[in-house]
This record gives sequence, C-alpha cells and structure tokens, in this order.
Amino acid sequence: MGDWHPECPARLQAIDDQLIACGLSNLLDHRDAPLASVDALARVHTGEAIARVRDHLPPQGEYFPLDPDTLLNAYSWQAALRAAGAAIAATDAVIAGEANNAFCAVRPPGHHATPDTPMGFCLFNNVSVAAAHAMHVHGLERVAIIDFDVHHGNGTEAAFAGDPRVLMVSFFQHPLYPYTGVHPPGSAPANLVNIPVPAYTRGDTVRELVRQHWLPALDAHRPQLLFISAGFDAHREDDIASMGLVEADYAWITRQLVDVAQRHANGRIVSCLEGGYALSALGRSVAAHLKVLAGLD
Ligand SMILES: [Zn+2]
Repeated sequence: MGDWHPECPARLQAIDDQLIACGLSNLLDHRDAPLASVDALARVHTGEAIARVRDHLPPQGEYFPLDPDTLLNAYSWQAALRAAGAAIAATDAVIAGEANNAFCAVRPPGHHATPDTPMGFCLFNNVSVAAAHAMHVHGLERVAIIDFDVHHGNGTEAAFAGDPRVLMVSFFQHPLYPYTGVHPPGSAPANLVNIPVPAYTRGDTVRELVRQHWLPALDAHRPQLLFISAGFDAHREDDIASMGLVEADYAWITRQLVDVAQRHANGRIVSCLEGGYALSALGRSVAAHLKVLAGLD
C-alpha cells in the first residue's frame, strides 16, 4: 500500500524469520495459497464490493486509494484472492483431516472488510469467506469466530450479526478505529460476545475476561470449527494501539482455544493473520501462537 504504510510486505518476512530462528519452521507443513473464486467471495461480499477491488487496479507503480488507509496496487486483486483462498484451502484441509489446524500467514488482512465495503487495510473478509465456505460447502451447522486483533472486527460482525450458526467472540481497544462494536445494553445480537476494553489494558485482565465471557459462550455454542482472526496488534510493543499484551498472553489465549476445539470440534482450528505492525513483536507472537497450535507448548 506504499512504503509509508504499516501493512507492509516486511510483516510476512518477520514472521518467516522468527519461525526459522526459533526452529518451528521445519516442523510445519507449508502450503501455497490458491486463488479464491469470485463465487466464494460472493457468499459474503456484494458484487459491488468485489468490483470495487477488481475494477480499480492501477498501473504498476501507482496506487488507487479506496479510502485514505486502504490502497490498491497492480497486484492487489491477486493478493486478496490468495488471502481468501488460503483461508478456504485451510478450511478444506482441516475438514478433510489433513491437519488439526492451520495458520494462514496472509496479506491483506480481512476483518474490517464488510459485505459491501473494503476498508481499514482489508479488501475481502478472509475469515468470513472461509466460515461461509465451511457452512455452505461442507454443511457445518455451527462455527465460531474468535477475534483477538486490537481493533473491532466490524466487517465480520456485519457479515454474521444475528446469524445463530456463527458465534463471534472478541475483545478490542475502545475507543479506537473503527469505533464500532459497542452496543447499548440489551441491544447486541445474541451471537456476539463483544468486549470493549480501555487503552493500557494488560494481559491479566484480558485473560480474566476470556475466562468469564468467551469460554462459557464457546462451550454453549459447541462450534464444529473455530476460526481465529489472529491480529497481534494488542501487543505492548505495537504503536498502532495502546494495549499491553505479550507473547505469553497470545500463547495462553491460543491454549484456551485449542482446548475448546478439542472439546467440541475434533481439534479443528483455522487461524488467519489480521493486524500486527511491530515487526519483531509480530514474529514472536505468531511463533508463540503456532507453538501452541502445533502442540509444542
Ligand atoms: Zn488491528
């Protein structure tokens, strides 16, 4: 999205570097991401939203701003199809039993993309497209989407609010972009567990909120597959927001989700990268997340 932009290619290099440095890379089954089909996108996104990306690609070397934060370059359509395609392929692989779980190291992220508007660095909602694929193609009746990015996943909420098949649990710094997710008492759709937290909230508080609010809701829903919107920008080294999580907190949260998946979903988890912009902290946090997913904690 331009050299100045925090959502940059170096993010994926930082993850790769850290996975190599900590010895995890050799233990993982690495797969390339296929392209998602337009039909798969259309289970979540309107034709207009899809066309807004596909039809505005600028010439090589130029940018087309969809909004001040969200820009297209000549390769954005391909990249966005591969990001969503990774989430779909991961879903197919865990449902086929090729792996218990999968992590999709993808850009662009997805959880701010609503059914009708790409926004907030996100073009298509990778996790939502994969969840819709799991229900439509594989016939799953109950899934959960767990969003621990520091920003509220407004796009995912817009896709599934009121859909009893999908439980969405999240915490997010509030107030903060995109300034959504806080519902007046009694008015929140029943399938959402939104936990707004103030700036400077640390991991011990978040763990208690997860224990009190996420885990009972997840156990009651009995999801057949867990999707994680895995943003690591609540890390205390990440300047895009002001929360105080560290790698051990991401490992702890992941452990709780692995346990939920083992209780209800044959262990099945599909985790997709969302935010995380402090490169070293991002790499270390993903490594902590994957160590638990891989059963090496
Ligand atoms: Zn974020």
